[in-house]
Amino acid sequence: MPTEKNIQSRKPLLLSTAVTLALLSLITLNERSSVPVNAQTLQAAGPLKWYRGNLHTHSLWSDGDDYLESIAMWYRDHTYNFLAFTDHNVLADKERWIDVEKSKGKQKAFDKLKQKFPNGWVEERKTEDKLETRLKTFREVADRFNEPGKFLLIQAEEVSDAFQTSAIHMNASNVKELVVPRHGGSVAETIQNNTDALIAQRERTGQSMMIHLNHPNFGFGVTAEDLMRIRGENFFEVYNGHPGVNNSGNKEHASTERIWDIINSFRLGELQMPPLFGLGTDDGHAYHNIPSRASEPGRGWVMVLSEKLTPESLITAMEAGRFYASSGVTLERVTSSTDGLDVAIKAETDLKYTIEFMGTRRGFDSTSQPVLDKDGKEVRATRRYSDDIGKVLARAEGTTASYRFTGDELYVRARITSSRQHPNPSEVGEFERAWTQPAIGPAAK
Ligand SMILES: [Zn+2]
Ligand SMILES: [Zn+2]
Repeated sequence: MPTEKNIQSRKPLLLSTAVTLALLSLITLNERSSVPVNAQTLQAAGPLKWYRGNLHTHSLWSDGDDYLESIAMWYRDHTYNFLAFTDHNVLADKERWIDVEKSKGKQKAFDKLKQKFPNGWVEERKTEDKLETRLKTFREVADRFNEPGKFLLIQAEEVSDAFQTSAIHMNASNVKELVVPRHGGSVAETIQNNTDALIAQRERTGQSMMIHLNHPNFGFGVTAEDLMRIRGENFFEVYNGHPGVNNSGNKEHASTERIWDIINSFRLGELQMPPLFGLGTDDGHAYHNIPSRASEPGRGWVMVLSEKLTPESLITAMEAGRFYASSGVTLERVTSSTDGLDVAIKAETDLKYTIEFMGTRRGFDSTSQPVLDKDGKEVRATRRYSDDIGKVLARAEGTTASYRFTGDELYVRARITSSRQHPNPSEVGEFERAWTQPAIGPAAK
């Protein structure tokens, strides 16, 4: 294991010679305050492996159009290692029969189910003129599919709440009990109350759990200002594969990346809060016509560097920032240190990559203005801030790149964009990308 001193002395870092580095993972405390600095190299080594997973999936237990076991099979057969089932306000833990023809998957999903799972797995009964089948519980499906070190299903829930016209959806992963939406007197209070409910369950049961804020731009329900100050909410979806969630924003609304940069500038520059981490997810609902323009599996995911393929180990890794989000680009190594941020891509032949380092410097202009519509009326939207926030500090072409801190960065993160268009994108025309977590800079409070 290299020591911290080794890491600091690798300056300037020549990535081609750094490949032999074993993994260094240490969380140190920034001397200036209690904000943790992630000084770590993310690279598979020893027991640490990359696990690919999706933390946002719907099934016939709510508004998805396929059965849990068929969906689990799809992910297992498409090189995923873990999958969280996140149906709306329900856990798949009770006896439930559905009318096959009236269900979202109709006869087609049922016929496919019987074909994939022959020999009596599927239960059916005919009552009067309708055919019913019993939905398998999470436990039954997990017992059939979980394979140590290879594939893991995680019980989860999309806590689906709202305030006035704003949808507020949050995924609670590895829950033990249903989280009933807690509501609140504002969007921020609703997010906070649901976050608190999950934390309370985690503390009471002792089970490892995490909660993340989903698709802030779904109906443009959640703004940067809403999410910025939520205590205990340190994850959100920077990329959600559902075509209706406006990852890129629009004329009046900031993109999810802009929201991310605004939040981290304030959290690390003024609020003395932990950074917000970004996730890629699918939010799959439609499993029968891939690709099309519906919300399908396979668009966005996370790569987690974890010791084990267990919910506890994965959550511990994610809470330490040992993961990145992807919609197609795979990374070989990400190093964040007191010196800067380094990225190495697991390159595919014939593809070109653009690596952008973006961040915000100490003393950034923190003033903001409301967004107004054409009649001069204030729109409920993330406010407009200066270009100081989330500035592109450096850009490189190639398969490796390094950013060295100059001393006044609050944080720096990297976005990697491939020259290949996403084969089944959330938004038409998007390219395959990866997003590292923010590396905390020397000027963070
Ligand atoms: Zn949702
Ligand atoms: Zn969803």
